[in-house]
Amino acid sequence: MAFFVFILFGLSQGKADEAAKNNLMVGVKIYDYAGSFPNLFEGWRSLGINTAFVSASLESNQEFRSLAKKNNIPTFIIVPIFYNAEELEKRPDLSAITNEGKKASEDWVKFVCPTREDYRNQRIEYVKNLVRELNPDGISLDFIRYFVFWEMVYPDRTLNSLPNTCFDSHCLEEFQKATKIKIPQELFVTSEKAKWIIDNHLQEWTEWKCQVIASMIKALAEEARKIKPDIKINVHAVPWRRDDFGGAIKIIAGQDLAQIAAYTDYISPMCYHHMVLRDPAWVHSVVEDVYNLTHGQIIPSIQVKEAYIDKELKLSEFKDALVEALKPPSKGVIFWNWDTLEKSPEKKEAVKAALK
Ligand SMILES: [Zn+2]
Repeated sequence: MAFFVFILFGLSQGKADEAAKNNLMVGVKIYDYAGSFPNLFEGWRSLGINTAFVSASLESNQEFRSLAKKNNIPTFIIVPIFYNAEELEKRPDLSAITNEGKKASEDWVKFVCPTREDYRNQRIEYVKNLVRELNPDGISLDFIRYFVFWEMVYPDRTLNSLPNTCFDSHCLEEFQKATKIKIPQELFVTSEKAKWIIDNHLQEWTEWKCQVIASMIKALAEEARKIKPDIKINVHAVPWRRDDFGGAIKIIAGQDLAQIAAYTDYISPMCYHHMVLRDPAWVHSVVEDVYNLTHGQIIPSIQVKEAYIDKELKLSEFKDALVEALKPPSKGVIFWNWDTLEKSPEKKEAVKAALK
């Protein structure tokens, strides 16, 4: 009898584990694809991938969309908000300005000033059109933050070495209006005004920045839900814990995740540990930190292959990062990106094994 009970218990326990795993979101980021779509979906299903984060151009492919539906794979369109090189090319005056009075630009990372009403409205209209025309299951808001090339910010950096933005005349005007703080009239140069704000009113400046970002997320989510009430909203978060670099997630990036979580279904910190010189256990520590701040559904994104760093991301390290990414309170994992995962049979096997 005891043996029988044990078998039953064992079975039901196994089923419960399976169900728990089935509830996990297992996503891939994919920007374009030249191969066969039926094979792509078959490949995803065989690995246990159940969600796709795609570019607008891929989502606009009819065959891709109908196969996603048929295979029961929800799709989120990745929409960059304040990173927009194309628009900045046309309108350089939209550029965000650093505390040194320079354009917010480092390598490919170029940011738009986040307070321009016309630009914000244009982005909201763009998202509304995507929802209307392509009917995605979700919108995944990317670059919805202030300028920083975090992919190259290593553990030894300090808060003061990171660029604070945006100090163009428009933001300075809006900040003074919102907070009633008056920048002394004798300060003419942007870098002096920025220094005065940072030295005297960093807290107000930071809170206002976080509000600029959160209000944009709120507007985008509300407008998308007006068109499609059950649409899911995800935000890509800079992978900094609350106290990393002296609170830079709020002070520099303007991402107050507690505030942001109120408007979104998911938060996905980009836990690309190898790139920022952290170990795999750091992935879980970021998830825990974001969860403690938000009590939301946290889905870390992890990197499949090395990037920016000239050292291989080994299979064993990828496996470790995947284990860390799936530890509760994580609600899943998103692989950045499909292109690199597809090319690595060993890493695909590791994914399959971890999700079994
Ligand atoms: Zn600005």
